[in-house]
Amino acid sequence: MTEPMHVETDVLVIGSGGAGMYAAIEAAQSGARVLLVDRSLIGRGGATVMAQMTVAVALGSQTPDHWACHLHDTLQAGRGLCVSRLLCEEAPDCIRQMDAWGVGWARKDGRIVAAQAPGHARPRCVYVDFLNTGPAVSKTLRAMVNKTSGIRKAGDLLVTDLVKHAEEVAGAAALHLTSGAPVAIAAKATIVATGGLTRLYRRNSASANMGGDGYALALRAGAPLIDMEFVQFFPIGHLAPRLIGMDPIMWDPFRYKLGGRLLNGLGQEFTSQYGSSEDGAYMLTRDLATYAIIKEVEAGRGSPHGGAFLSFEHCPPAELRAAFGPVIDRLAINAIDLTKMPVEVAPIAHYHMGGVAADARMETEIPGLLVAGEAAGGANGANRLSGNAVTEALVFGRRAGRSAAARVARMTSQPFRPPAADAALDLVAGDGAANGPNSADMMLRLQSIMADDVGPFRTRERLERAIVRIGDLAGELGERPFGDGRCFDMRRVDWFDLRNMLLVARAVAVAALRRTESRGAHQREDFPGMLPEWRVNQVARWRDGAIEFVSMIPPPYPPPPAAEGREGVAAAQ
Ligand SMILES: Cc1cc2nc3c(=O)[nH]c(=O)nc-3n(C[C@H](O)[C@H](O)[C@H](O)COP(=O)(O)OP(=O)(O)OC[C@H]3O[C@@H](n4cnc5c(N)ncnc54)[C@H](O)[C@@H]3O)c2cc1C
Repeated sequence: MTEPMHVETDVLVIGSGGAGMYAAIEAAQSGARVLLVDRSLIGRGGATVMAQMTVAVALGSQTPDHWACHLHDTLQAGRGLCVSRLLCEEAPDCIRQMDAWGVGWARKDGRIVAAQAPGHARPRCVYVDFLNTGPAVSKTLRAMVNKTSGIRKAGDLLVTDLVKHAEEVAGAAALHLTSGAPVAIAAKATIVATGGLTRLYRRNSASANMGGDGYALALRAGAPLIDMEFVQFFPIGHLAPRLIGMDPIMWDPFRYKLGGRLLNGLGQEFTSQYGSSEDGAYMLTRDLATYAIIKEVEAGRGSPHGGAFLSFEHCPPAELRAAFGPVIDRLAINAIDLTKMPVEVAPIAHYHMGGVAADARMETEIPGLLVAGEAAGGANGANRLSGNAVTEALVFGRRAGRSAAARVARMTSQPFRPPAADAALDLVAGDGAANGPNSADMMLRLQSIMADDVGPFRTRERLERAIVRIGDLAGELGERPFGDGRCFDMRRVDWFDLRNMLLVARAVAVAALRRTESRGAHQREDFPGMLPEWRVNQVARWRDGAIEFVSMIPPPYPPPPAAEGREGVAAAQ
């Protein structure tokens, strides 16, 4: 085996999206030495940098608001399954801290502006500008990471396994992509901030790094996962005509702003038939919109490429130009003229409500292992409100960083013992078969299985078929990576990716099969309707090569907020 590199740190942060960068800053500011690693470039590899739109927070800067009102709306959307209030409670403080760091939240008359988004009872979604929120958040955090002493960074480092000693997580094993070298990282606390899993699906809004690595790392290390059945589909992802150089979900803010009309293939508005009273304004929650579009397509009333039309043709050209700004020109390059034509949109896998279970300190059941951001599960229950995901990344990242530093302060030595990492490092470095199966084809097959049989609408028959086919793919993948392990050996990277994707896909499909009701983003066509006995979170654990599930009753609801809960307008600036 190639001799592994050995690195030591107090806090290892895996993933440098919003959650990982905030965690690193907070841990370092609390006195810990931090190593921030990412399989991609630092601060540019995941969803945060792609997020274009809004960040939900009860600042009350324009309309009176209170975090308890935000929590109330979050719980409603989560259909009774949310397990944490932290997201809403600490959001105002984090968003103000980002403001102080110079993110540049949009302002009017000196006050931070908030937009109204579906499911939020009042305007609560702050932004930088309608296409630049995620990049601005990432840039601000990257700048803070660079300014904060005590943070070392390592990009191109794919973490393949967590390393345990005496039932604690003591660091990780990784593959250095550019050299092919195995790397052992000793850490007193490890934060998984690896983002979501939407790469499991054929049509997704994510970067290629989002195959659910963190869920698989945590599960194999013995940490439970929660709510794995709840994958959120974004209803109006771009479908046609072909669009180059733009985010597939960017239609949403324009629909808020201009009331874009959603039409079926016959040119008829249809959402009112599925329980919406949106009447031109965009108030439909994501799960209902996804349902409405898929049902129209199934009924033979879809648009030519299998979605729905989104039309802004009723808007005067000047209004379009004012709202879309330079985006109009980018659309024109793609031969899209919104004054004369609709675009086609369709649901696209976008976000995962489930993830690694953690307490309010973002600590998992396994000492030494913490989690943050989209990698953490449970805060959004069965369905996430618009804007809550970036907030979750920031709030949970900050809390995880603080808790990790507190753990480090209590420890006197590294718990890492080299033999504990041997098996994981051997997988990274070992000689593999030069010609394994076609991993790119396996990836596509997995994405098709998930899209066709574990999509937003599920049945027992389809889920059982998916579980068998996922098992077959796992058999095909085998126990040892292929490839020779040299620099940028994509066969080896694919093997590690598929190992995680198949494990996570199995967790999603089995959780979905067990939940014999429909709730939020999980819709069972054979079990329509929500059942009181299913107001439980499913918790998954890895035992002896199988995933075991238990049900857990979510914490009680706080009482709904008083009619006009507010945070003092002046204090919110
Ligand atoms: C196109 C798009 C638009 C969105 N718009 C919004 C929005 O407007 N508002 C909102 O609230 N939410 C939005 N979301 C969701 C939101 O952006 C994410 O939920 C959030 O940014 C996740 O942050 P994170 O830090 O947890 O993960 P990410 O930002 O995804 O970062 C995870 C990082 O982990 C790294 N990583 C993964 N696996 C490994 C590994 N094995 N080893 C090392 N590194 C690893 C990745 O390379 C990545 O850099 C959007 C998402 C997408 C995809």
